[in-house]
This record gives sequence, C-alpha cells and structure tokens, in this order.
Amino acid sequence: MRIDIISVVPELMTSAFSHSILKRAAAKGLVEVNLINLRDYAVDKHNSVDDYAFGGGAGMVLMIEPIDACLKDLKSKRDYDEVIYMSPDGQMLDQPLSNQLSLKKNIIILCGHYKGVDERVRQHLITREISIGNYVLSGGELAAAVLSDSVIRLLPGVLNDETSALSDSFQDGLIAPPVYTRPQEYNGWGVPDILLSGHTANIDKWRHEESVKRTKERRPDLLK
Ligand code: SAH
Repeated sequence: MRIDIISVVPELMTSAFSHSILKRAAAKGLVEVNLINLRDYAVDKHNSVDDYAFGGGAGMVLMIEPIDACLKDLKSKRDYDEVIYMSPDGQMLDQPLSNQLSLKKNIIILCGHYKGVDERVRQHLITREISIGNYVLSGGELAAAVLSDSVIRLLPGVLNDETSALSDSFQDGLIAPPVYTRPQEYNGWGVPDILLSGHTANIDKWRHEESVKRTKERRPDLLK
C-alpha cells in the first residue's frame, strides 16, 4: 500500500511514521508513506500556498492552485483509489472504515491547515472526507497520522502476531478483554486464575465473556 500525505507542515508527522510498528511496516515494504510538502507546489517564488478568505474574517485558507498542481503531479505517476481530505465535518473514522481503506492500493490524504482549504477543493478534487472526532485540530496532520496508523496496522504482515489486530477492540463489535503481564502479584493485586491455568479453550471463553461484559458496561451502543 502507498499513502501520500499532502501538508504544509509535513514535519509534524515524521515521528509518527519513523518508530515502532509503522517504521517496521515500511522497512518490510508493506507500506510506503510519502510526506509531501505543499509548498513544493507553491504558486509563486514566495512559496505561497494560502491566502485571505474572500468576504473577510480571521484565518488563512489553503489555495486550490497548489493543491490541484500537487494532485495532478501525483496522479500522473500512478492511479489512486482515494483522495481523502481530513475534515472535522467529514465521515467519522471508525474500525469498519479503517478496515475498508486497508484494502486500497494507493491513497492520498490532504491535510488542511489554518481555516481549511478552498471549498472548491472539497467540491471537485477529493473523493472522501474523514474526521477523527468532534473537535477541531490546528491542522489535518495529526488526524492523517491517526488514520494512517489505524489502516497500516491492519495490513497483512505488519503486526507480528497475525491475529492480533482481529482481537482488538471494535473488530468484532466488542471491546477487548483485560490483559495482564508479570509480575503475577503486585501490591497484593493478583491476576485472574484462569489466565494462569494454561487451558486455552477456557481462557478463550473467559476472554469472550469479559469482552461482552465490558461492552455492556462501557459501550452498550456497540451491541445494538
Ligand atoms: N474552519 C474549520 C476547521 C479548520 S481546522 C472548521 O471549523 O470546520 C484546520 C484543519 O485541521 C482542517 O482543514 C482539517 O484538515 C484539520 N482538522 C481539524 N479538526 C479535525 C478533525 N476533527 N478531524 C480531521 N481533521 C481535522
């Protein structure tokens, strides 16, 4: 899979992709993430990519010209399945959406900044808008990193234990069961005996029951 992320501050995302699971995924050749600086497609020699909003009001708006030039350049090199704009009023990101996007080959993610992007970008140049929650961030960069992480960890071979992503919360409409590690006792706080029993079938059954219990307690909306 290839993910091209367009931004005016790509540096905001470098750390997210250069450590741990996402770094390994790239090293194994399972994903290629390219951070593209929109200023490379600036309309003038001052590197301009934003301008004042028509009609006045505070806040700059990313211009359509550099965005269109950047998209044209990328699309001239390969076909893309999606051009996603990160936006607080987009479709809410959830596990089914991440699962769906993990099946795509090439995607572009456009990050807004300041007041956002010229509305004509949203009307004509993108295929989808995604939000990571009902709150406003300063830019789409952290949201793009969140989206990419949730997608990349699903690609076959990225997680060491292939079944690991499937046992995470939301995959089967349930919250994940509790997990424990050493020491077996800390401050007098123990670990459920069943997890130490070595009886796999009983452990699986216990985990499923805990998942259902937790989901009922914490996220009854998921059971509907
Ligand atoms: N004026 C806009 C917010 C702009 S915030 C409004 O009121 O809707 C600047 C940029 O941050 C946006 O263009 C978007 O790309 C990104 N962003 C902010 N909040 C986000 C969220 N919850 N999910 C995804 N992207 C977000």
